[in-house]
Amino acid sequence: MTIYTGPVFEMARRQFNLTADHLEIPEDERARLLYPKRAVTVSVPIHMDDGRTEVFQGYRVQHHLTLGPTKGGTRFSANLEVGEVAALAIWMSWKCALAGLPYGGAKGGVACDPPRLSRRELEAVSRRYMQEMIPFVSPQTDVMAPDMGTDEQVMAWFMDTYSMHEGHSVNEIVTGKPVALGGTEGRREATGRGVAHLVGRACSLLEIKPQDCTAVIQGFGNVGSVTTYTLARQYGVKIVGISDHTAAIHDASGLPLEAIEAHMRRHGVLAGFTSQMGIDPHQLLLQPCDILAPCAVERVIDETNAGRLRCRILAEGANGPTTPAADEILAQRQDEVFVIPDILCNSGGVIVSYFEWVQDLQRLFWSETEVNEKLYQLLDQAFTRVVGYAGSNGVSMRNAAMAIGVQKVRAGKTLRGLFP
Ligand code: GLU
Repeated sequence: MTIYTGPVFEMARRQFNLTADHLEIPEDERARLLYPKRAVTVSVPIHMDDGRTEVFQGYRVQHHLTLGPTKGGTRFSANLEVGEVAALAIWMSWKCALAGLPYGGAKGGVACDPPRLSRRELEAVSRRYMQEMIPFVSPQTDVMAPDMGTDEQVMAWFMDTYSMHEGHSVNEIVTGKPVALGGTEGRREATGRGVAHLVGRACSLLEIKPQDCTAVIQGFGNVGSVTTYTLARQYGVKIVGISDHTAAIHDASGLPLEAIEAHMRRHGVLAGFTSQMGIDPHQLLLQPCDILAPCAVERVIDETNAGRLRCRILAEGANGPTTPAADEILAQRQDEVFVIPDILCNSGGVIVSYFEWVQDLQRLFWSETEVNEKLYQLLDQAFTRVVGYAGSNGVSMRNAAMAIGVQKVRAGKTLRGLFP
């Protein structure tokens, strides 16, 4: 069990144990629920453009196959290690269970830095990674999707590599593909749309009007950017701060989103947009706002800043942005800060991935309106359930979401029994 190390795995373990304590799960049942079924480590050797051969480390962790195939994204990031991947896989399990999807959780990735790879090198890494994973994935065992550092194009290369091996097109092997290859309408926007939708639900619950709200969004990738634009354009929220890994900007009177959008289209990163609105990225999280949405990496809200957040709603678009130590502080501030926990808040992505897989399997495709209606329906159900559980059990929103997810997986395992 010791291959899973590091602060992110420790976080997943701590969260699970708190939930297990609350659910009074006996000690001897815990390891079976927490530890992944499989972890695959592969070498991904490719020819670099300068003629050298470089070997990247690739991973895929499949948490449990109790309720159906495993499901989860593929992350390309420089310092990826197996403990982090395992934690992300475990979170996918609770997330899928909470949303009512027939999946266990998985996560994978390659320790590489995509901005430093040429397009040809990125394609080689993607294809060789999928090639190495062929024995361990299938539409009925494990279905990959995008995550940080990967996109529709990478999914297209995955799908092609797998399909070439099978001898026919297997669209349902990955989700988050381009629509032209059997991807679904609305998948690219799904996570951010889901975040914005749940913020809308939280606003109604707290009896505040979105059009009177300000928001700070950390991360401007797929999740952060769609969250920003949706909150601003569909809900009338004033965006006062955004950041990506290159820059952070803040203006209490509201950011010029059209100009930012044009800049992002041209440069791909926030850096160079303006120096006048620049702010220290750590300070950005502490600015007064109604909605704070961390949509980037893990562990950005910890014991050093949790007590100083000045938001009304914390909408976790990222996976694992809040440490258990920060959770303890936020639990004391429940009347001030309403938390929409990650496994609920960002579940729109995997929900629409599920729709994509279903459409691929039945070879029948839905309109974007249909996709969104079904997305909001599942999100609403999960939101209502979490708020209800938190209220009736007197626990935090995170503990409520976790408890519902863990209980569902546990029930599945109990019904199936232990083989042999
Ligand atoms: N990577 C996304 C997540 O963390 C989506 C996974 C999927 O669509 O399978 O939820």
